[in-house]
Amino acid sequence: MADISKVRAKIEELRRLIRRHDYLYYVLDRPEVSDAEYDKLYQELKRLEEAHPDLITPDSPTQRVGGQPVEGFAQVQHKVAMLSLDNAYSADEVREFEARIKRALPGERFTYVAEAKVDGLSVALLYEQGRLVRGATRGDGRTGEDVTLNLMKVRSIPHRLDGPLAKFNVLEVRGEVFMWRQGFERLKRKLEEEGEEPFANPRNAAAGPVRPKDPQITAARPLDIFVYGVSHAEPDPFTSHYQAMHQLHESGFRIHSKGEKNMLERYRRRCGDIEAAIEACREVEEARDKLGCDCDGVVLKVDSIEQERRLGSTTHHPRWAIAYKFPAQQATTIIKKIEISVGRTGALTPTAELEPVEIAGATISRATLHNADEIERLDVREGDTVLIERAGDVIPHILQVVTEKRRPRTKPFSFPNRCPVCGAEAFRPEGEVVSRCTNSACPARLKQSLLHFGSRRAMDIEHLGDAVVEQLVDRSLVKEFADLYGLDVKTLADLERLAEKSATNLSRAIQGSKRQGLGRLLFALGIRYVGEHVAAILAQHYGSMDRLEKAPEEELAEIYGIGPRIAQSVALYFRQPENRRQIEQLRKAGVKMREEGVTAGPRPLAGKIFVLTGGLEGFSRDEAKELIVRQGGRVTSSVSKKTDYVVVGKDPGSKDDDAKRLGVPTLDEAAFKKLIGKA
Ligand SMILES: [Zn+2]
Repeated sequence: MADISKVRAKIEELRRLIRRHDYLYYVLDRPEVSDAEYDKLYQELKRLEEAHPDLITPDSPTQRVGGQPVEGFAQVQHKVAMLSLDNAYSADEVREFEARIKRALPGERFTYVAEAKVDGLSVALLYEQGRLVRGATRGDGRTGEDVTLNLMKVRSIPHRLDGPLAKFNVLEVRGEVFMWRQGFERLKRKLEEEGEEPFANPRNAAAGPVRPKDPQITAARPLDIFVYGVSHAEPDPFTSHYQAMHQLHESGFRIHSKGEKNMLERYRRRCGDIEAAIEACREVEEARDKLGCDCDGVVLKVDSIEQERRLGSTTHHPRWAIAYKFPAQQATTIIKKIEISVGRTGALTPTAELEPVEIAGATISRATLHNADEIERLDVREGDTVLIERAGDVIPHILQVVTEKRRPRTKPFSFPNRCPVCGAEAFRPEGEVVSRCTNSACPARLKQSLLHFGSRRAMDIEHLGDAVVEQLVDRSLVKEFADLYGLDVKTLADLERLAEKSATNLSRAIQGSKRQGLGRLLFALGIRYVGEHVAAILAQHYGSMDRLEKAPEEELAEIYGIGPRIAQSVALYFRQPENRRQIEQLRKAGVKMREEGVTAGPRPLAGKIFVLTGGLEGFSRDEAKELIVRQGGRVTSSVSKKTDYVVVGKDPGSKDDDAKRLGVPTLDEAAFKKLIGKA
């Protein structure tokens, strides 16, 4: 066969691509292709290898589970391998799956459980006598990483089980850690406000933070878990998968009770035969946009545990389950133009303007290109035909260029090394992916900064919209924040499309914003990493701009909820003479620089470290924290020898035991109230 060298080359090429994508997906959590694209490569390799079995090598991706653990975490050997599932792409392939298991267990009947296949990060949770003792990632399926501390921060993962399962010697539960789209959108806004680069999609946002070294990062992410299996139990009373899931829910993996979250739980159901299971797949597919999270298919499992056991697994997949994958939400279209916009922090962000195209009912006319690296990697050029993918409500992204359709003599897109608005040099620090305009007086940056300054959760200046800001900057009426407060009604009324009455309203809104107080002002200034929440903490802690301006970096870093990175950024901000000058201008304009209700007087709890456990009657957890912080104390999440007090409420967790063990004084609610002067 003359073509055998070609086949060999093709196989090598596919293996190389698959390995690269495995690494990006499993190790870096930065996939570059959709799962459907990846599956296509994998299936093609499998097909070629089946046709040429002599070309199969033991190191081919088809011969193993894939991925490798990240360095730095302790490794965990999975007792029962976390295998990936075999895929089906049509109803017929689902029927073939049943035909296979019927051949394996002739004459038997099967019932199934259909579950939404949530896209996130697979984890294994080990409980001993009802206590969570270890949480691990899937890793390569046989060896994962110990991420117990991080997983303990995921709120819906119980640290202790209730009910009958609490008495089990060993129970290993598996599930998918993921992020609801709503939470993802909120997180994205927050990161943008803090001047950080947001994640491309909920999966990346969920997978990343399960593994940072700092569990606080995990805690700050709105993560959830969808449990889908028990891999090991002693004793082992389960007879069906559905029953096991039900018992898990009764043991503390609570069924979400509100709104969208309920949608997902609805998509676990028993199906009497394979046709009912196929119907369930169709229903979830139709509802996929309404699930509130990323769901790329439906997993069908044989419900009987006893049959599962007899069916067993191949080296790659369990034989008793199959993943029905939804067709990808993809389309091809043409890039009309690559636009570069300039954000508040000066970040140059590329976006592709597309020939409008419809995907699953939505008209798509823009796609994100993330940054210069992404453009280079894809080699996207204006005029190119591209394959785009839509996942949920997230802005679509470009999967690849259809190079066969590229017009002759096009040039690679050259990412500007100057700001497209002011022409200043754009700087990209070593190791970062974002280039930023270096001109702090860049009109584009100033416009975005002013819009942020006046936004609802910052200074809340109504009527200070795009059109007004555009003119104020272009006519050099406003060069910095304080200039806003010098605008009179007459000047404002001269602006285009602003009638006398609107000008009066705007002027009133501007003047009224002077009274917002320190917290909102700090957020409005747009200091890097200082979002709404951090701004409120700083305002509560210091009470006035004077005190905050003088705060040393080490002191800032000690405040609960601040940490070294934010402390550094805040200290750096106040060290810049230009920033201090601008704040002085705001002060002169009459902008309030204090926070109401924060006493500048003695701080009785200064330096004291608290840990809270259990529920308090008189206040919520957040209220209690705020009271402590206001008086100079800190609240940390775990008990150590450094802890001064553990406040013990109703139904305390293990922290109460920790306090006793370490000899840390405990306070009941009454004693706590007395200490903070609320008794
Ligand atoms: Zn610029």
